[in-house]
Amino acid sequence: MRALINSYDVVVIGAGPAGSMASYNASKMGAKTLLVEKSQEIGEPVRCAEAVPKIDEIYGIPADPSFVRTKLDGGYIVAPNGKTIAVKGGKTDGYVVERKIFDKYLAIRSAKQGTKIAVKSRVVNIEQDGSGYLVSINHMGEEYKIKTKIVIAADGVESSMAEMVGLKSKKNVNEVCSCAEYEMTNGKCIDDNMLELYFGSVAPKGYAWIFPKGDTVNVGLGVIGAKKSALEYLDDFISNPVINGRLDNATPVEFKCGGAPVGGPIEKTFKEGFMIVGDAAGQISPLTGGGIALSMDCGLIAGEVAGKCIMHNDCSEEAISEYETNWHEKYLHLLKNDLKYKNILQQLTDKELDAIGDSIDGDLEDVDVPKIALKAVKKSPSLLKYLKELL
Ligand SMILES: Cc1cc2nc3c(=O)[nH]c(=O)nc-3n(C[C@H](O)[C@H](O)[C@H](O)COP(=O)(O)OP(=O)(O)OC[C@H]3O[C@@H](n4cnc5c(N)ncnc54)[C@H](O)[C@@H]3O)c2cc1C
Repeated sequence: MRALINSYDVVVIGAGPAGSMASYNASKMGAKTLLVEKSQEIGEPVRCAEAVPKIDEIYGIPADPSFVRTKLDGGYIVAPNGKTIAVKGGKTDGYVVERKIFDKYLAIRSAKQGTKIAVKSRVVNIEQDGSGYLVSINHMGEEYKIKTKIVIAADGVESSMAEMVGLKSKKNVNEVCSCAEYEMTNGKCIDDNMLELYFGSVAPKGYAWIFPKGDTVNVGLGVIGAKKSALEYLDDFISNPVINGRLDNATPVEFKCGGAPVGGPIEKTFKEGFMIVGDAAGQISPLTGGGIALSMDCGLIAGEVAGKCIMHNDCSEEAISEYETNWHEKYLHLLKNDLKYKNILQQLTDKELDAIGDSIDGDLEDVDVPKIALKAVKKSPSLLKYLKELL
């Protein structure tokens, strides 16, 4: 592969949303950039429920009909007793996309800025080489060594790159939500433009979802440290009375499984000439497991910092640290809050979740956790022991 015989300013590992956005910005700023993907096809295999916020308004990426399957107006939160609360507008609208096409679209967009892409190319080692790195890549059984000044590791939940350069990653099973999902046809949603999220013992320490996707629905769930496998919980969920038989005639056209790293961000996301982004860095909401938008934005930040460092010929730890400063400023508070909310949610029984649901009247405009906690405590004072941290 021709892309593998050069040296580069920036090598980005992993062509998911984080890697494609990082390489896009690095190339845009004039850095000679290589994006390396182990799969033979970018976007495959999919491990995602495919809901994204309004990428057109946030990143100026057109909501292209090639990958948008459904436009979302919001979502329903469903308590174990079936109480259904609509959350509409604000941050809850967006799209359900076809990730296989979306991820490829983002990679093509990056290539149009000048990024070279190597597919079916697995990074097997990174070692310090003078002031830069030597990245070893296995492509079709051949090993290539690429010299680069900066590495951006965007290699997802199973990332091994941080450890290769001496940074700590998170590998605790209690910090990874184990997920299983069917894409099904002949199923029905409550509303074709609303997400559905189901909480409680249907998915211990996680939640179950039904997302509309045009002709199909994504039906899945994530669990942490549960007695049964995610797939067993999923098969039970499909016939759970709480969904009123809407999946009785549904049949799968695809099965997906994977992990979401919901334990919060890793301790340190950079070192000299090195940054780690996306799921690999724990840049994903611990509460919802949503990570696409965050990965994309943190990728953009990493790509911009890489571009600047190359421009100023300074890839020192201090220069690279701007990446962490910038993404922390934007997202650390949100991730810490979501982690706190998740830890509280995980302790609640079905009855307690029902009590919270019953304390909410009408639709919500946004999920204002402290406001919801206050209402719930007023109605069921026994919830104070869990919710006092939120008031
Ligand atoms: C079941 C499930 C449902 C989800 N649903 C949603 C959702 O609806 N909305 C949402 O926002 N988020 C969702 N997420 C989370 C979302 O999928 C991730 O946060 C997002 O994909 C992170 O992007 P990324 O670029 O960091 O990593 P990934 O998208 O995982 O991309 C990493 C890339 O790196 C490649 N790679 C790995 N190792 C190497 C290597 N050694 N060499 C070369 N390439 C390598 C991989 O092949 C992959 O292409 C879900 C997660 C799961 C598991």
